[in-house]
Amino acid sequence: MPNRYKSILLFGAPGAGKGTQGKILGKIPGFFHLACGDVFRSLDMTSDLGKQFLNFSSRGELVPDELTIQMWRQNMHAQTVLSLYKPKQDLLVLDGIPRNVGQARELENSLDVFKVIHLRCNDENAMMQRMRKRALKENRMDDADDKVIRHRFEVYHKETLPVLEFYPKSIVSDIDAMGSPAQVFQRVLEVVVPVQEAHFNQPAMNPA
Ligand code: AMP
Repeated sequence: MPNRYKSILLFGAPGAGKGTQGKILGKIPGFFHLACGDVFRSLDMTSDLGKQFLNFSSRGELVPDELTIQMWRQNMHAQTVLSLYKPKQDLLVLDGIPRNVGQARELENSLDVFKVIHLRCNDENAMMQRMRKRALKENRMDDADDKVIRHRFEVYHKETLPVLEFYPKSIVSDIDAMGSPAQVFQRVLEVVVPVQEAHFNQPAMNPA
């Protein structure tokens, strides 16, 4: 299907490090990182959509699919019109979407998914630790309360993990999410660099 965004998905439980890895990757020419949660957090919280987001996220629930997909499409359009994201040159690195099988189905016509990077971490305590730290740093209500964090894990297991089955096994790469951001990033690069090479013609860097 033509005109689908060439993408990789960053996948993993809350606190597994999707945002950290996505942000680093997004700094490299030829990659464009978009985190659905960041787009939600950038909304005007007094707007209807902002209020809906707060209502769901503060309880650790997912925002309903229709609102999420609509907001995502509008944001992608804006990023493209502003040339912040250049579909012909950039590999789209999506973080936090699709978050359930319904969203994955809904996005099938829009995404050409080359890889699903599954940041794997079985240590829920380590992830909770990361989230508590992030709550303080980023003022995130959904990460400040242990009860909400636990519910976020439940939602992940019930609604988000099945997304992994939606995509062919051949494109899912399991990556150990334990270790420093640099160590994990090295593992991520091993997967994404070949994808970029296979699908984009990256101009060589000019020597400084
Ligand atoms: P995140 O920053 O990815 O941890 O997302 C924070 C919160 O934003 C989630 O707990 C949800 O309430 C909401 N959210 C982010 N992405 C999605 C999505 N794809 N679908 C529904 N809700 C989402």
